[in-house]
Amino acid sequence: MKLLRYGVKGEEKPGMLDQDGRVRDLTGIVDDIDARAIAPESLDKLRELDPGSLPLVSGNPRIGPCVAGVGKFMCIGLNYSDHAAESGMDVPTEPVLFMKATSAISGPNDDIVIPRGSEKTDWEVELGVVIGKTAKYVDVADALNYVAGYCVINDLSERAFQLESTGQWVKGKSCDSFGPIGPWLVTRDEVPDPQNLALWLDVNGHRFQNGSTRTMVFGVDEIVSYLSRFMSLQPGDIISTGTPPGVGLVQNPQVYLSPGDSVRLGIAGLGEQSQRCVTEGAE
Ligand code: ZN
Repeated sequence: MKLLRYGVKGEEKPGMLDQDGRVRDLTGIVDDIDARAIAPESLDKLRELDPGSLPLVSGNPRIGPCVAGVGKFMCIGLNYSDHAAESGMDVPTEPVLFMKATSAISGPNDDIVIPRGSEKTDWEVELGVVIGKTAKYVDVADALNYVAGYCVINDLSERAFQLESTGQWVKGKSCDSFGPIGPWLVTRDEVPDPQNLALWLDVNGHRFQNGSTRTMVFGVDEIVSYLSRFMSLQPGDIISTGTPPGVGLVQNPQVYLSPGDSVRLGIAGLGEQSQRCVTEGAE
């Protein structure tokens, strides 16, 4: 199943994509695509629905973030061996963790707002993992059972905020609009092997990132298990699992996003995002 949220910002309604790629309304069946709706029992019920029997959503509504009420937005750094190499960093021996503020979450096609004072806003296409049931001290072999599904994420990053002053990476990762998620939450049954997905990102039509989740250092199962040793993962939490090579920071010369730029990204089977960069206050 492909679950989504559509409508104006802050008033999104729950929906489901049908076989023909049209949006069907889930209003009255679930309150929202949230922790309750993506629990295993709820997903089983939704799977029994005939999408053709649900009201067709007309027009071309905005698509919102694919999950509502995200409690934690965890991210993994340097998790692709080929990206670690291009960054001149050693391949980590344990997952590198950081967090993104949940206020950064935006819809997959919403504008990217270049923050005030930014000169180094960068892109990162990433596989997003959405947790469907509470995970605490779970084994690697059992870890995927806690995953509701997957989505596309652009882990936008302001490199000066992230790397050139004191403190954690979180400053460079948390600006408003720095966390587009979606277009859909694709349930786990439709993604039999999360470690074999092509992912790509274009800026102004030029392909900068063209990778595969095959080159992840730590797979989704290892990441979920590892995180669950240090915190409980709750339904609706999101984990962004790291980016393949080709970010702006490692270009020679470096390339960063400016107002007017367009960004497109996608992951095989999980859909595409398309964003336009704007100045703060112009969104
Ligand atoms: Zn990242």
